[in-house]
Amino acid sequence: MDGSTPPPDTGAILSSVFGFDAFRPGQEEVVEAVRAGRNTLAIMPTGGGKSLCFQLPALCRGGVTVVISPLIALMRDQVRALREAGVEAGALTSGNTDEENDEVFRALDEGRLKLLYMAPERLASGGTHALLQRIGCGLIAVDEAHCVSQWGHDFRPDYLRIGELKRALDVPLAAFTATADAETRDEIVRRLFGAEMPEIFLRGFDRPNIHLAFQAKDGPRRQILDFAAARKGQSGIVYCGTRAKTETLSKALADAGHSACYYHGGMDPEDRRQVERRFQQEDGLIVVATVAFGMGIDKPDIRWVAHADLPKSIEAYYQEIGRAGRDGAPAETLTLFGPDDIRLRRSQIDESVAPPERKAADHGRLNALLGLAEALRCRRTVLLDYFGEAAEPCGNCDLCATPPEVFDGTEAVRKALSAALRTGEYFGAGHLIDILTGNATEKVRQRGHDALPTFGVGREFDRRQWQAIFRQMMGRDLMRPDPERHGALRMTHAARPLLKGEAGIELRRESLTAASRSRPAVK
Ligand code: ADP
Ligand code: ZN
Repeated sequence: MDGSTPPPDTGAILSSVFGFDAFRPGQEEVVEAVRAGRNTLAIMPTGGGKSLCFQLPALCRGGVTVVISPLIALMRDQVRALREAGVEAGALTSGNTDEENDEVFRALDEGRLKLLYMAPERLASGGTHALLQRIGCGLIAVDEAHCVSQWGHDFRPDYLRIGELKRALDVPLAAFTATADAETRDEIVRRLFGAEMPEIFLRGFDRPNIHLAFQAKDGPRRQILDFAAARKGQSGIVYCGTRAKTETLSKALADAGHSACYYHGGMDPEDRRQVERRFQQEDGLIVVATVAFGMGIDKPDIRWVAHADLPKSIEAYYQEIGRAGRDGAPAETLTLFGPDDIRLRRSQIDESVAPPERKAADHGRLNALLGLAEALRCRRTVLLDYFGEAAEPCGNCDLCATPPEVFDGTEAVRKALSAALRTGEYFGAGHLIDILTGNATEKVRQRGHDALPTFGVGREFDRRQWQAIFRQMMGRDLMRPDPERHGALRMTHAARPLLKGEAGIELRRESLTAASRSRPAVK
């Protein structure tokens, strides 16, 4: 790439092409290295999102990126997914029909193809080097790079030809594997890169200095003010779900004596730059912002990050809290969440124009975040587990400090589900709680719901406790708001075994009360 053009905005491509709202831990650095044409070896856990680390750079670079992958089924999956996202990709494998091969060659000849997947066996055939030279291969990506190791159980002899190919084409190579042991790593480096030492990415995802905490919303403005008051004079970010809220909340913080300002995408670019400059230079400024704030902020001593509203996904959460404590010193986070957040995030997904599979994946990523919010054990363990990394209880999260008290919520959940089913899955939590607690409101009487067998069967919990039960049910994806009917809750497949008596469920008791109120943060 010529030095005068600015580097492409990989964050924008991430969302426009791949539909992701944030990089997963480790991805951004690898994407940048590969995009810039440096030889790289990235070791990431299975499920960590390796393919994006060569697919995204392939779109930023000139020429064709050749991807060597050992599994035909995997290649086909990736090619299909890329094509659905509008990216020209193709595969040359032994399983191809003649028509499929013709189509790939045509796309290559017309210079359309961005990614060409190839089984390693293909490298044995004499014409392959010439072919790749002719089509202008600009980057080689090697998936499952440990297959080059003769000591591993996945050894594929044809992988040994890759080093030779790299030297013949004289292009950068990016290798990926989940196998982290030092011997395999050394062997990969030796066999794929020869004398050139690649940049190696082997980083745990954990940021142990960041304290993790969630609270159910319970007077959210006061919760944020309390959190900030306990950290007066420290630099922090408050993320909000809407632009309007950034303005009101920053005013409330300023009124409480903090140095605070707001930031969102609707502001003048010059005003935004000024906030960025102030934040970088001043000590103890609080920026109340939408997610527009953060890309390109490189301040090592941000001491805390609070979310006044639930982020979009577990990836977005990790990226946003990850802005705190880059200097390695203790940093704290607090994420607020409530049923309205869950409804909002669900409806944003349902109303987006994304294809059905992407919506399903987005719901899954939201579920992962909600699972973290409603976790019953160490939050870091749950978080790292999602990203494929094993961890011990951390001692630096709210749940390690105060393990939640749980109770058998099976009966309560069954009652709630049956209230929803008996009323045609047509009502929201408020009305269902009226039925459960035997509150004969006018709406309840009008619909005859006071005559239901479920009427008043849930008097052992008060309204507030039922709200927490419903929130946890939504958080565990047992119920979802119906996108067609505003506010109505529908049972999901996940709830079936509970209803049928085939499974039980534990719920958190402390989140049934306001016990989370202003619990001091623990270092
Ligand atoms: P690996 O090859 O490391 O096992 P994949 O590349 O198959 O992992 O990715 C695993 C899953 O993670 C895929 O479903 C992919 O769509 C998803 N994924 C990858 N990157 C992101 C991201 N930044 N945000 C959300 N999901 C992602
Ligand atoms: Zn912990």
